[in-house]
Amino acid sequence: MADTEKKCNICGKAFENSNKLNQHKLESHKDKPKNVKTKSSNSRLKVTGIAAAIAVVIVLAVYFSDNSTTSVTSVDGVNCDPTEAFTFHIHAHLDMIVDNKFVTIPAGIGIKQNECLFWLHTHTDDGIIHIESPATRVFTLGQFIQVWDSTPGISSTFEKLTNGDANLKVFVNGNEVKNTFDKIALSAHDEIVIISGTVPPAFPSTYQFPEGD
Ligand SMILES: [Zn+2]
Ligand SMILES: [Zn+2]
Repeated sequence: MADTEKKCNICGKAFENSNKLNQHKLESHKDKPKNVKTKSSNSRLKVTGIAAAIAVVIVLAVYFSDNSTTSVTSVDGVNCDPTEAFTFHIHAHLDMIVDNKFVTIPAGIGIKQNECLFWLHTHTDDGIIHIESPATRVFTLGQFIQVWDSTPGISSTFEKLTNGDANLKVFVNGNEVKNTFDKIALSAHDEIVIISGTVPPAFPSTYQFPEGD
């Protein structure tokens, strides 16, 4: 069987026999890439990788905003601040007499432990109302009582101490004041007496504030 014309399956060139064709393939096509898809599939992998990286960056860019804003508490116009302000700093004194007996005014009225102090508060159970605010203004007995009943964990509420008496009498510096609590101003060194039940024949009309107070 004689050799017939052979064509190169790569370039189509004709050769007179198989040996010459094989020779040609070795010489002319030995480095011919067998897989032309390699490069493009590599590119596709790169593109996919970049897209994934962008997606990760977008996910990381989404953040949760910090909701721990400073809580501003205010009761009847009296703010609760993290620290005491002494721009306006006066004191009044409160006595409460229920059925002829003095009752103790709780310490810590208007003080939220580790949180804030209302402009009206008591530090101890001596009955001294501390009026401490960043601006001079008129505060009232009504505001103090509102703050009292808004203080968490207080030993006794105003309501409880007065047995819910709706006919309380108020004396300021010895004089009865018939206004509602929200109309009774707290002035420096006032002696305020709230009485539930019988008005005793004698009760304080002044209070001896500490030196320089
Ligand atoms: Zn204080
Ligand atoms: Zn004070």
